[in-house]
Amino acid sequence: MDYEAYFKGELDTVRDEGRYRIFTEIERRCGKFPNATRYVEDRTEQVTVWCSNDYLGMGQHPEVLQAMHEVLDDCGAGAGGTRNISGTNHHHVVLERELADLHGKEAALLFTSGYVSNWAALGTLAAKMPGCVVFSDALNHASMIEGIRHSRATCRVWRHNDPAHLDELLAEYGPDVPKLVAFESVYSMDGDIAPIAEILDVCEKHGAMSYIDEVHAVGLYGPRGGGVAEREGLMDRITVIEGTLGKAIGVMGGYIAASAALCDFIRTFSSGFIFTTALPPAIAAGATASIRHLKASELERARQRERVATVRRRLDAMGIPHLPNPSHIIPVMVGDAKKAKRISDWLLDNHGIYVQPINYPTVPRGTERLRITPSPVHTDGDVDRLIEALSDIWSQCELARRSAAA
Ligand SMILES: *Cc1c(COP(=O)(O)O)cnc(C)c1O
Repeated sequence: MDYEAYFKGELDTVRDEGRYRIFTEIERRCGKFPNATRYVEDRTEQVTVWCSNDYLGMGQHPEVLQAMHEVLDDCGAGAGGTRNISGTNHHHVVLERELADLHGKEAALLFTSGYVSNWAALGTLAAKMPGCVVFSDALNHASMIEGIRHSRATCRVWRHNDPAHLDELLAEYGPDVPKLVAFESVYSMDGDIAPIAEILDVCEKHGAMSYIDEVHAVGLYGPRGGGVAEREGLMDRITVIEGTLGKAIGVMGGYIAASAALCDFIRTFSSGFIFTTALPPAIAAGATASIRHLKASELERARQRERVATVRRRLDAMGIPHLPNPSHIIPVMVGDAKKAKRISDWLLDNHGIYVQPINYPTVPRGTERLRITPSPVHTDGDVDRLIEALSDIWSQCELARRSAAA
């Protein structure tokens, strides 16, 4: 077999569909975010980032940086081992306590990323409980799907955000069958939010465990940033709350929060937890500082909500179509992979505005979009420039507008 020809051929197919991924090379400027330096061939340009998951700008927060600097100097660069073999640093333990407290759970368990936490926790739970059936929301994140697939457990997919359909599927199994219901709170591409209380009603009716991914909600929702389940007073009814330290928390890592026995079970039986080097202690300390800050401060969340509302209002005034939703995510719909890429390139090259196009397989074909995430650190001037540039390209490409009254 001609291996090289095979690789190139597969890539050509992706390119022909207009969804070949070209990474935009930037340097985030600490203290200047959302501004960044973009590297283009032999030069650099200043850009404003409008598609970051550092939703609150915590990646440059002075308390986070100070904690990281201090622990870097105290403890050195790496953890020096897996959690089992010399890698459990005091700062990991402190962070796990902080996370358990954030979600009102007995315990929490750290992973190297949110992806790994979903993959490892769902994979282990579903694989280790004999006869376990997993009930997975149709729009669950790739990390959850991969974890469930890896477990080889039976998986039933329920219609997105449809507790009645979940109820129907759960009813097919007797009370002795272990059941695990996996879903998210804020879905990151459409920005819609799950009917958590209704899903939990159904789970409780059938004696199923509930597993929620609050990756796009932790830090952002709830009086202490515990997520949508905290805001709605539902954390104690959920079996496992999963989150990331890489988005609104601004650092890196993932975790689950649950009962002491469940966390101990994952700690003991999960390959993805145990056979990998622990996070650097400075990362753990930065995450702890960020979480502590967001538990006490409503400032960032309030400012973010205001910025999101402002961008939405300005888009509406220009008739630029965006998916309405109750979250902080603004999907500007384009509906074509090549067009989405062209618009994104044009914004970047002509206006220094960076919004990554979102294509298949991240979203279904025909729903390609620009996903805008306003943050507390975007200024009025940034918003003006974004809206003017979008309006300009909408006219140039003769894209459909909504009437301003709609
Ligand atoms: C980003 C994401 C993850 C993975 O989190 P990382 O910490 O980035 O690995 C998990 N679930 C959802 C829904 C995500 O969007």
